[in-house]
Amino acid sequence: MRPIELTADQPSFRTIRFEPAGISLIVGGRSRKDETGSDKTYNGVGKSLVIALIHFCLRIYRYLDRGIAMAFQAFVRLPACQVGFVVCCLLVAPMVQASPWARVATTAAGPAAVIGGPANGCVAGAQALPATGTGFVSIRRHRNRYYGHPDTIRLVWDLGKALSRHTGGLMMVGDLSQPRGGPMSSMHRSHQNGMDVDIWFRLATSARSANDQHPEHRDPASMVAPGGHTLNQDWGEPQRLLLKTSAEHPRVDRVIVNPVIKRALCRTEQGDRGWLRKLRPWWGHDAHVHIRLKCPRTSPYCRQQPPPPAGDGCDQSLAWWFSEEAKRPAKKSKKKKAKPPLPAACTALLSGS
Ligand SMILES: [Zn+2]
Repeated sequence: MRPIELTADQPSFRTIRFEPAGISLIVGGRSRKDETGSDKTYNGVGKSLVIALIHFCLRIYRYLDRGIAMAFQAFVRLPACQVGFVVCCLLVAPMVQASPWARVATTAAGPAAVIGGPANGCVAGAQALPATGTGFVSIRRHRNRYYGHPDTIRLVWDLGKALSRHTGGLMMVGDLSQPRGGPMSSMHRSHQNGMDVDIWFRLATSARSANDQHPEHRDPASMVAPGGHTLNQDWGEPQRLLLKTSAEHPRVDRVIVNPVIKRALCRTEQGDRGWLRKLRPWWGHDAHVHIRLKCPRTSPYCRQQPPPPAGDGCDQSLAWWFSEEAKRPAKKSKKKKAKPPLPAACTALLSGS
């Protein structure tokens, strides 16, 4: 388990988010004599309370040191304190096993080669996407997931240039792959073989604002209106252009978007609707688009997905996404499916670090 955030039902309690590096607590500056005569410092921001709540939620309360245990008891007894047991609970996520691929800091030298599929593969000779380029800015680079096959890097440049001709904004590029691809420790199942890239729909006004306004856990806004049936007022021609340019790019295999986005385009696109075929509806993807490229011809060990079905996809297969069945989460089988092992060539790529 890992803590995500600590929230309360009282507006006075400020939500605490756990960044990957931990949380910051302000150390007390003022001093106050306690009954024992010791000169303790405090500043009243609630450090002890927060620590006690974290321990409580992680069910390790009984192991607390005596001072914190007392603070916690005082807190839960205090009638004036509205934030009771009901308050908080740490939202916990399953602790994802750290992937050894996430620790590899350098790309594998040699010619670019894609090995395996998007959810079970790796990449040699990857290139790093620069922090900025014509029409784009790469964000959250501390994750070190800005590497891809040269085709993927070229695609980002092509899209940035195309967009910059029509809009004044910058395209915000999210995760590509790790330096040698492979499984990540969090967030994505795919993005493993250097052929996937996420691009946020919202455009940034500058590289600086893109990075300042979107730290971890503050994603750019969704394009789907509350209720999940229509697009909101943030959707416009730049977003349509991003999808159309991506889908028409000869190296792109598929463009994954929220079903509401696909349906809106199915309803409004006139003339050549051929590009809608590559737009594949999937859960999420309402704030960013996931673009997947085709296997490069020079990578015989790349595993290519079957092409999208013929036609524009504005049919029953799209209607299903709005059915009751789609809204009900499928019951997960209790048996955990064994993950297929990574291709042997990937193991060699990892051990060659
Ligand atoms: Zn993605």
